[in-house]
Amino acid sequence: MKDQYGRKIDYLRISITDRCNLRCTYCMPEEGIVCIGHDQILRYEEIITICRAMAQKGFKHLKITGGEPLVRRGAAGLIRQLKAISGIETVTLTTNGILLEAMIQDLADAGIDGINVSLDTLDAKIYARITRGGNLNQVLAGLKAVLRYPQITLKVNCVLSGEDWEENAISVAELAKDLPIHVRFIEHMPIGPEPNKEVTRQDLVKEVLERAYGTAVLSERPMGYGPSVYYRFEGFSGKIGFISAVSHKFCSECNRVRLTADGRLRLCLQSKESVDLKAVLRGNHPERLGKIIEQAVYRKPREHHFEEQSIETTGMSQIGG
Ligand code: SAM
Ligand code: SF4
Repeated sequence: MKDQYGRKIDYLRISITDRCNLRCTYCMPEEGIVCIGHDQILRYEEIITICRAMAQKGFKHLKITGGEPLVRRGAAGLIRQLKAISGIETVTLTTNGILLEAMIQDLADAGIDGINVSLDTLDAKIYARITRGGNLNQVLAGLKAVLRYPQITLKVNCVLSGEDWEENAISVAELAKDLPIHVRFIEHMPIGPEPNKEVTRQDLVKEVLERAYGTAVLSERPMGYGPSVYYRFEGFSGKIGFISAVSHKFCSECNRVRLTADGRLRLCLQSKESVDLKAVLRGNHPERLGKIIEQAVYRKPREHHFEEQSIETTGMSQIGG
């Protein structure tokens, strides 16, 4: 469906939990967050009802996220049911990869189309520091496991920061050299516990990669419907993408809205504007769902205002990044 600015909105990111088995410094405070009560989390059947209504309004692409989606029991079963909804073309997943090796068979059987793994460095010590205790080997085993299923598009998402960012950029990009993995560099956004963290700008990262790997040639996007701009380096199997919400604002092409774990339809990553779909469902008015979704999506804000130093201290794990 179209919003008030004529943008086609057909992509829903669904947070199925705000809980996580890591504590990335820029996403969650060390002590964790006050989690949503179990009775407030959308049940899977409620998520499916909402997605059916969204599909009837023209939504085609669903991304399962969190928190860490794979810590919620039955995630693969949910994916299987979402894939069966008429009108839904792709169902993909964003994960930190820790539980991926154990779950890949179920995810593949459920028909998952793509998996994005978040990985900011290939240095085990730096990884443990950023994630506050994460084990890099588990993530690498997860990547390897996904590669056994060529039908699943595999992407790595990397947020660069700190003094080691150049080494991290070069080594993470190298995953795309020998393996069919698309690596995307995501600029840190002023959201979460470190809102004033420096942004490692896309142009600088591209410069560093070109010094290491030669000229980057603008390229088609692989399967995906987001705002990344992709490049190809000579001899690379995968592509290198950039998602630069801060330095290259892409709001005019935004195609997405988000469903939070407690059932709010959030219209923009930054804006707090949201509609409580859980209240509609649990208030026994499911027949109103379609109309309410249509009205909410139509009102989607024109753009974010990260450049005005406005900050959002709620972390991505709670918004559904
Ligand atoms: N736990 C899963 C994961 O890590 O992929 C899914 C949820 S996580 C919130 C989704 C993505 O948001 C991760 O790739 C993470 O790096 C990113 N993220 C978190 N806070 C961010 C911020 N302030 N700016 C940019 N990306 C952020
Ligand atoms: Fe957890 Fe993902 Fe946030 Fe890291 S980025 S704390 S893995 S939700």
